[in-house]
Amino acid sequence: MTSRICPLCEACCGLDITVEDGHVTAIRGDADDVLSRGFICPKGAALGELHDDPDRLRGPLIKRDGGFVAATWDEAFAEIAARLPPIIDAYGPNAVATYAGNPTAHKAGLLLYGMRLSRELRTANVFSASTLDQMPKQLASGLLFGHWLSVAVPDLDRTELLVVLGANPVASNGSMWTVPDFRGKAKALQARGGTLVVIDPRRTETAALADEHHFIRPGGDAFLLLGIVHTLVTEGLVRLGRLAPHVTGVDAVAEAARDFAPEVVADRCGMPAATIRDLARRLATTPRAALYARIGACTQTYGTLASWLVDVINTLTGHLDAVGGVMFPKAAAFAANTAGASGRGKGVTTGRRHSRVSGAPEVFGELPVTCLAEEIETPGEGQVRALIAIAGNPVLSAPNGPRLAQALASLELMVSFDIYLNETSRHAHVILPGYSSLAEPHFDVAFPQLAWRNTARYSEPLVAPPAGHPAEWELLVRLIGIVRGRGANVDVAALDDELAADDVRRLAGPMTEAVLAAVAPRRGPDRLFDLALRAGPYRLTLDAVRAAPHGLDLGELAPRIPELLRTPSGMIELAPPALISDVARARADLARPAPPLVIIGRRQLRSNNSWMHNLPTLAKGKFRGTALVHPDDAARLALQDGGRARISREGRAIDVQVEISDHMMPGVVSLPHGWGHDLAGTQLAVASQRPGANLNALLGDDLRDPLSGTAVLSGVAIEMHPL
Ligand code: SF4
Repeated sequence: MTSRICPLCEACCGLDITVEDGHVTAIRGDADDVLSRGFICPKGAALGELHDDPDRLRGPLIKRDGGFVAATWDEAFAEIAARLPPIIDAYGPNAVATYAGNPTAHKAGLLLYGMRLSRELRTANVFSASTLDQMPKQLASGLLFGHWLSVAVPDLDRTELLVVLGANPVASNGSMWTVPDFRGKAKALQARGGTLVVIDPRRTETAALADEHHFIRPGGDAFLLLGIVHTLVTEGLVRLGRLAPHVTGVDAVAEAARDFAPEVVADRCGMPAATIRDLARRLATTPRAALYARIGACTQTYGTLASWLVDVINTLTGHLDAVGGVMFPKAAAFAANTAGASGRGKGVTTGRRHSRVSGAPEVFGELPVTCLAEEIETPGEGQVRALIAIAGNPVLSAPNGPRLAQALASLELMVSFDIYLNETSRHAHVILPGYSSLAEPHFDVAFPQLAWRNTARYSEPLVAPPAGHPAEWELLVRLIGIVRGRGANVDVAALDDELAADDVRRLAGPMTEAVLAAVAPRRGPDRLFDLALRAGPYRLTLDAVRAAPHGLDLGELAPRIPELLRTPSGMIELAPPALISDVARARADLARPAPPLVIIGRRQLRSNNSWMHNLPTLAKGKFRGTALVHPDDAARLALQDGGRARISREGRAIDVQVEISDHMMPGVVSLPHGWGHDLAGTQLAVASQRPGANLNALLGDDLRDPLSGTAVLSGVAIEMHPL
C-alpha cells in the first residue's frame, strides 16, 4: 500500500493505494495524510477503473480518411512537424490557438509545460476552462490584492459562522478552496455551536446539512451582496479592525452601494429584505465569520462583481485575513504572492489585447473561450487555423458546443493531448495521450495556494510507465521543439535543460549555473518542483518533501497582510475603478423581472469531468443527468416525474429526463453539464450507454461577464415542454 495524492479534483486527498501486477486492488483514504486525514470520495475510489479503462488511449492516433489509425510516436510527431510550422509561417503565430481543460490544473507536467508551449507559440489566442469557471474570482482577487492566486479561503476549523453562496462543497469538497472532507469540518463547526448558512437556488447537499438555507434567484448574487454592503454602511457596522491602515477605497464602495438598500434589491435577488439585513448584521457581529461564494456566483452576468463583493464584505466586517474569517494560504512552491518584494507589486492588468472578432479583453493572458468558435470561423488576418487542445472537452463544457464542434471540424490542424477519444478530441488530426496518472509523480502546483491548511506533498509513481511511452511533459517539450523549428526529432532532454536554464536565468542571473547544479540531475517537472520549493517561503527541497510520504504539515493559516499584497499601492485596493463602474450596469438592471423559467447547472459527487461518466463505478445506479424541476413548475408545464421534456432557448433545444424535486426554487431548473455522450466518433463505451443531454448545446456563446470574459452558464431563461 502506497500513499498517493488523488489527481481528480481540487480536494487533493491523500490516498492509500495497493497495486498488484500493475492493477489497483485497493484504495482507501490515507489516514496519515497531513491535508485530508483519511477522507476519500467515490471518484477517488474509481482511480483503479480509470487506470484499467479499456477506452483509455494507450498510444497516439492519427486521422486518416476521416477515421483514426494507431501510430507510433515518431509518426505522430512527424505529422505535426509537417503541418504545424507551415501554418505558423503562412499566417503568423495567432493562427495557432491553445485550449487547456480543467485536468491540466491537476497534472503538473501538462500545466507547467503547457504554459511554456503557449509562450513559445507567441499566440494571442490562448483559451482555457477558466472562463467557464473561476476567472471572476481570480480577477477580483488580483485587483484587490495584486495577484491572480491571492484568493482568501474560509478558515473553517476556527470559524463560528460560514455563509456559502452558490457553492456545494459537500459535493465538491471545495472549489477555489481545497478542503477535503468539507462535510466533516462543517459538522465540527456545528458541534462547537457554529452556524452554516447556504444561499442557493437549489437545496443542495450542502444546504441539506446547513442550519439555514435561503433560495436566491439565479444571477441575483451581486444584488444580494450590494444589499449587504448597503446595510453594513448605513447601520454603522463597518469594522476594518487590524486591516484599517492597509485598506483604501472604503468610501467609494459605500457610495457605490448607496442605491442598493435591501428593500430595493429584494425582488431582484428573490430574498426578503429582512433576511438580507439579518445576514449583514450577523456577518458583522459574529466575531469569527466567513462569506464564501463560488461557481453560481462566478458563471453569470455579474460574476466578477459578485466575486469582488464577497471580498468587500469580508473586509468591511473585519473577517479578511483574520483567524476564523477568510485567510490566505502560504504555499511551499509556485506562489507569486511569496515571491519578490513583499507588500507591494505590479498588481494585475487586463485588456493588454482584445479578441479579434468580438473585441473581448484579455484577462490573465487569456481570451474568453466563448470567442473560440468565432475566431476559427471568421476569415481575416489572425484567423485561428490550428488548435492545440490540452486535456479539455469544450464541445461539452463550453456554451454552444455544437457550433464549436463544427468550427473544430474546419481546422487545418488540431492536436489533442487527451487520454480519451471524446466529443472534442474526435475532431483532432493527432491525439497524443498521456499514460495513467498512477505512473507519474504528482505535485500540486495551484491547489496548495487555495488550501484550508498549509502543507507540502509529493507522490511517487505507483506503477512503471508503459515501455516507450513518453511522459506528457516530454510530449510537450517535443512539440516546443517543433515550434522552435528543430523538427520532430529534437533532443527532448537537451531542450528541457535549455528551458530550465532560461527560467532560472530570469530569476537568478549570474547564479544560474549554481542553482541548476543544486537540483541536478533532476529533469522535467521534478526539477521545476525542486527549484520552486527551494525558492519558496519555507526553503524546502524536493528531497525533504519526498521523505515525508504523507506530506509535510506546514501549519494552520496565519494572517498575511500586508506581506501578501502585490498591488501598486501596497494597499488592499477595495474599489477598483473597473468594478465601481460595473455597479452602474447592475443599477440599470435592478428592475429586471424574473423570467418564468431559468436553468442552472449542478455539481455532483460522482462527476467532475465529462470522462468520469465512462467509469462504471461512477456511472452505475440511478441516472443522474436529470433535469430537476420544482413541483409547481412541473404542474404548470404538465411535466411527469421520469418523463421526457424538451428544453429550448433561442432556436436550440435538448431533450431531457425530468425529475420533480422540491429541492428546486420555483422557476428554476437544474441540469448538470458534461453530458451528451451520444455524438458519433467517440470511444466512450460506458458513457454512451446513458448519454444524457448536453446543457451546453442549449446555452449561447454570446453571453459573458464583460470584465472576466466568463461565460454565463447560470440563470439563463428557457422554455420547457413535455415530450
Ligand atoms: S474529493 Fe477529490 S481529491 Fe478527494 S478522493 Fe474525491 S476526487 Fe479525489
